[in-house]
Amino acid sequence: MCRRIWILTEILEYSRIRSALYRKAVVSLALRKIVLRSDDVLRKKCKNVEIFDEKLGILLDDMAETMYKANGVGLAAPQVGILRRAVVVDPGDGLLELVNPEIIKSKGSQRDVEGCLSCPDEWGYVVRPMEIIVKAQDRNGGHIQLKLKEFSARAVCHELDHLEGKLFTDIADEMVDPEEVEKERNGNGKRKKGRKK
Ligand SMILES: [Zn+2]
Repeated sequence: MCRRIWILTEILEYSRIRSALYRKAVVSLALRKIVLRSDDVLRKKCKNVEIFDEKLGILLDDMAETMYKANGVGLAAPQVGILRRAVVVDPGDGLLELVNPEIIKSKGSQRDVEGCLSCPDEWGYVVRPMEIIVKAQDRNGGHIQLKLKEFSARAVCHELDHLEGKLFTDIADEMVDPEEVEKERNGNGKRKKGRKK
């Protein structure tokens, strides 16, 4: 019994230290300022990432932190003023970091409402592929290939457009009233469909 209590105490102590370390790590991340659509940086084509160093890791960490803090599902480097081909996306099932991403195959189509962290209060219907295969590099330069469908495919397509200097408002076939989107989000529970990228 005593030993069990001792072990429990040790576990609690261990998790306390771990969470303190985690907090310290989180605090060291930095939020970046998200640039708005009036900024020319969003209209420029991004260059490939060629150096996979600590600076890239910090950029990706900061981008993820900034995206989560803004309650977004994706963020591209130009949205924080960096003209490099790097994006972070979390469509709801985990964080994806894509460096030098490229869509190598796409099929089908889907039409749904999109928003963008750089275009507050603007929402519109955009047609995107239903399924895509993306090749990219990770933060260490390793090569990855992913098959993404539905909302994940939409989110990645939106972010990759940012790397070309394109915004969803360029290709939206119908802009919609933000209040209507909000009502729909609250009404039918499809929250993630209306979240910004
Ligand atoms: Zn966007």
